[in-house]
Amino acid sequence: MDNINVLVWSEYRQARKDPEVKNLYPEGINSYIANFLKENQINTSTAHLDQKEHGLSKKKLAKTDVLIWWGHRAHEEVSDEIVERVHKRVLSGMGLIVLHSAHYSKIFKKLMGTSCSLKWREDSELERLWITSPGHPIVKGITGDYIELQEEEMYGEYFDVPNPDQIIFTSWFEGGEVFRSGITYKRGQGKIFYFRPGHESNPTYHNKTVQKVLKNAVKWANNTSINSINFGNSPEMLN
Ligand code: ZN
Repeated sequence: MDNINVLVWSEYRQARKDPEVKNLYPEGINSYIANFLKENQINTSTAHLDQKEHGLSKKKLAKTDVLIWWGHRAHEEVSDEIVERVHKRVLSGMGLIVLHSAHYSKIFKKLMGTSCSLKWREDSELERLWITSPGHPIVKGITGDYIELQEEEMYGEYFDVPNPDQIIFTSWFEGGEVFRSGITYKRGQGKIFYFRPGHESNPTYHNKTVQKVLKNAVKWANNTSINSINFGNSPEMLN
């Protein structure tokens, strides 16, 4: 198997200013994720909002097999030109993993075509992510029926997204709400996974099972059979 090139993108703003976030993710959420994903056949690199072209040059994206996106406060600052560029790459086969508050990112909204709105409450409450697609590659090696996170932000239904191809996780929160927390889509030849947990002031990405989910998701989203497709006027085929 060829190596998988993973690019982890985040705004990298709060980790530089907010002491609570800095304490959990001193080099930013993007670097933290890139570090734990690194293994034998996974190469990782990072990019962030304040870099030239948000660190997403054509050259960089052309070499990226799977892009991971975490954003929160600055979705509107991402240029439409770059969103268009990422969108094109997804349609032509690049995998995309969208995390937590990136449900409101321009790229996710463009790919979904809906508002991607939801209910939320920042109260560090218990979340139980029930596995609702056992046997799926994204939950490979995860033991038990659910993943439990002691402290997370609540996201509740209704989540305004198109019907997913698969619902890998369905969350329950101690406040009573439920949420489709791990959902997959295909757009063009690109595989997309939205994964809900990951509030910046909770230690979610330190959790080994969450790390396992993201490692599995990278392997799942890496499309190894991208085809070239012919569109447009086509001569009649006589044979
Ligand atoms: Zn959050």
